[in-house]
Amino acid sequence: MLEKHYQQVRHINKFARSGFLNTRRGAVKTPFFMPVATRGAVKGVTPTEVLATGAQVLLSNTYHLHIQPGEEIVKKLGGLHEFNRWEGPILTDSGGFQVYSLANVRKITEGGVEFIDPNSGKKVLISPESSMKIQIELGSDIIMAFDDVPGLSRNDKKRTSEAVERTHRWLERCVIEFKKLTKNLKEDERPLLFGIVQGGLDEKLRKKSLEFVQSQSIDGVAIGGLSVGESREKMYLMLNFLSTLYDPTKVHYLMGVGEPKDIRYAIEKGIDMFDCVLPTRNGRHGSVWIDKDQRLNLKNSRFKGDKGVIDGGCDCYSCQSNFSRAFLNHLFKAKDPLAGRLTSIHNLRYLQKICEEYRE
Ligand SMILES: [Zn+2]
Repeated sequence: MLEKHYQQVRHINKFARSGFLNTRRGAVKTPFFMPVATRGAVKGVTPTEVLATGAQVLLSNTYHLHIQPGEEIVKKLGGLHEFNRWEGPILTDSGGFQVYSLANVRKITEGGVEFIDPNSGKKVLISPESSMKIQIELGSDIIMAFDDVPGLSRNDKKRTSEAVERTHRWLERCVIEFKKLTKNLKEDERPLLFGIVQGGLDEKLRKKSLEFVQSQSIDGVAIGGLSVGESREKMYLMLNFLSTLYDPTKVHYLMGVGEPKDIRYAIEKGIDMFDCVLPTRNGRHGSVWIDKDQRLNLKNSRFKGDKGVIDGGCDCYSCQSNFSRAFLNHLFKAKDPLAGRLTSIHNLRYLQKICEEYRE
């Protein structure tokens, strides 16, 4: 039985902790980092390779999978795990963030967000209810509530406050719909539902939002709307402010953060889960993290005669196989996709090692 979805094993220091998140696809050790498989795949890397980096959970994007191929097709093919060949838990975002950042948004109303499907040109509405339905049809194990993302106007107090209030009303609707859609499932068969805290950089709004989310019938607490362009100092101040307010019986997820030093800081402030496109996106552009969070760009011509591996102290497939910096530099120049694959594997492993250090 999954009565308690989060189990804390020990405190590492004041707020940092290690434990387990129990999902219907098994227990996951926390803290952990989720590679992003936007359209079902981690770009250019196979599930076996992703698993070998130490990843336990994948994140996929509801918006992208809804637009193409559509949840009906994924469901018909046996669900996302059957479709993308990842056997571990999958978290899906609610679609909210992408609707705001990518789609041609027509209208935000109390009902939901209306936008134009870039493929068909048709009007589409994503609502709290339809977001729950899409995520459940995809076969997600961790479902995110549909939130109102204030986006670039986060310095606009009125808009930030309106987004918090709407996010709360939408969360109540998500909880009702989620319960309806999962009522025939046993406790250990149902996916988990996470609520999202908004409030921009306003401490009062953030506190109010966190308290509201934690009062709801949810399995995890996500911090949204950070790492969206504010300074690192401002993000750290907010993470520090929130650290004393979390419900310790719930898992805490900081959305969209993937810089090594930010992950360390956030773990020290009580965060258990992360996701980010950074390790794979940077990798495809030639950028790798090595010892002490230094970054190298392997496209740089200074590496063209470098016999060394990416990082001599690394245990990833790419480094252990002795692929040299010179070879990677050459592959990048030749535009061979193997280059981005090998650097993605290395960068993913780099972030997993940070989480493992805290867990061990
Ligand atoms: Zn490596």
